[in-house]
Amino acid sequence: MTRGKPVNPYYSRTDTAKLELPDSIWMNVLSTEVYRVARGKGTERAFSGKYWDFDGNGTYYCAACGNALFRSDAKFASACGWPSFFEPVRKDGVSYETDTSHGMVRTEVLCGRCGAHLGHVFDDGPPPDGRRFCMNSIVLDFEPADEIEAR
Ligand code: FE
Repeated sequence: MTRGKPVNPYYSRTDTAKLELPDSIWMNVLSTEVYRVARGKGTERAFSGKYWDFDGNGTYYCAACGNALFRSDAKFASACGWPSFFEPVRKDGVSYETDTSHGMVRTEVLCGRCGAHLGHVFDDGPPPDGRRFCMNSIVLDFEPADEIEAR
């Protein structure tokens, strides 16, 4: 059963203090779909998410905690079916773990504030760094730049 959008008191676009919360709390404050990817390390189907084919101008925040993750000017069109970026907003905005699941060795990308699973980073991105942050749309919240400027 899908719950309505729950109230998440940990969500903040300004507070960068790290969050270390048990999954039992996340389960109560995240939607079922966000929880499945963010805490359960799920992956949305290719070409199914809201941002893989989206090119709005603005900033992408962690859907679990509000941490700024990527800017649209670091997004590039990728044929992979997931939103792809060549760099995070800032170095410690994300963290990395080695992921050996599914018989592969990959680098998992997590939110630097709350530890939510975001996706993986691969080395087949554009120059100069050649990185491709392959993200799940469901764990990203996009805010257009003109709304930010209008505040
Ligand atoms: Fe987060």
